[in-house]
Amino acid sequence: MHAKAKAYLRKLGKYNSSIAAVSGKKPKRSSLDSAAKAAAVKAKSSKPKSSAKKTNGNGVHKDPSGLAHLDMVRYKSSDDYTRVVLELDGRVKYRYQVLDPNPAVSRPHRLYIDLTGSRLGHDVESATTVSDGILRSIRTGQYSKDTTRVVLDFLAMQEYKVFPLENPYRIVIDVYAPDGSVPVAKAKQPAKKTTANSKYRPPRGSKKMAGDLLEQLGLTVRTIMLDPGHGGKDPGAVANGLREKDVNLRFAKIVGKMLKEKGFKVQYTRLKDIFIPLEQRTAMANVKKADLFLSIHCNASRSKKVNGLETYSLNLAKSKDAVRIAARENAVDPRSISDLQFILTDLMVNSKIKESRDLAKDVQGSTISRVRRRWRLNNHGTREAPFYVLMGAKMPSVLVELGYLTNYTEAKRLKSDAYLQYLARGIVDGVVAYKGKIERYAMK
Ligand SMILES: [Zn+2]
Repeated sequence: MHAKAKAYLRKLGKYNSSIAAVSGKKPKRSSLDSAAKAAAVKAKSSKPKSSAKKTNGNGVHKDPSGLAHLDMVRYKSSDDYTRVVLELDGRVKYRYQVLDPNPAVSRPHRLYIDLTGSRLGHDVESATTVSDGILRSIRTGQYSKDTTRVVLDFLAMQEYKVFPLENPYRIVIDVYAPDGSVPVAKAKQPAKKTTANSKYRPPRGSKKMAGDLLEQLGLTVRTIMLDPGHGGKDPGAVANGLREKDVNLRFAKIVGKMLKEKGFKVQYTRLKDIFIPLEQRTAMANVKKADLFLSIHCNASRSKKVNGLETYSLNLAKSKDAVRIAARENAVDPRSISDLQFILTDLMVNSKIKESRDLAKDVQGSTISRVRRRWRLNNHGTREAPFYVLMGAKMPSVLVELGYLTNYTEAKRLKSDAYLQYLARGIVDGVVAYKGKIERYAMK
């Protein structure tokens, strides 16, 4: 792990803030692992520190004990990927460790996380059975007076990442299945399509087989996850009579329809005006094994003059503008972005950084040229920034800022379906161009 990332995690550990009402239900301690308890002593630890930062706005001091609450344990899971999210009402220090399987007592691999300075919320289940090929179950309990323990029992695991997000404070655990264990085994066997004794294969069939093979190897683009940003209680940017969440959704439906017409399989993180946490959107794309992830947003600026299109991919931010936009989309203070960058260094190892940058270029370029057939449009180009919604995505993923709602002219355009159609055509062109490139590369 990056040294600075470590330092940051330690820093986060010191935030003991606020709390809601104390829970009634306390799961028995025996539901937790005694081996885990013993090993906790030598676990990775985030040490408490002295100074305290301000709470994240969700912490309401209701409890004199000063403990935070583990309010929710969510998960998204498939046969090769699982994301578990622990949501708290304030920052806590945490430590985690993986324990090796113990066949004698039929214990699988398990990862436990101790949240020091926290209590278990009364709505949190003490045990949840998952059994999806990677995760067997999730168990929670009040380990000691001020420590909550969460244990993940695995059926299979290869690699994992643990990282915190802010507002509300949450700890994300990503777990990946052993390489190649599932996708290849479950993929349709091309051999079945040719009978054993048929030596002659017609050209049409071979082309189809090549296509099948590309798909199985993940060298093409078939499924696209569209993510209309914001929703429900989170309107996103609001200006000139428009709410970002509405424009994003309207646009996602338009672009989704066009992508389907081009033969893509389209999934949506939402098709209604509902709130979905940022990290859940990425998890949906991973779980659905999408080949591309497109997060759709509209921009806002203090200056009403600013307008134009820009496409982001995940990376460290290189400009103040990128930091500001990432902070707005992450719903955090811009000052916390520099901290986030340290975590990201570690996380990016598994991300499709280069592919995402290529996709951003194709999308941005195609959209600009398509829209400019009819409108003047400012080209802000492609940029990079640490967006929560792109963190941990297993596929090439970009975030498109369609335009500035704070600019009167652009807002007026974004109100019209005609303009959105042009933008959508451009994005589809970009996706098709990207798909063509990776297929050509794969066939070489
Ligand atoms: Zn947004």
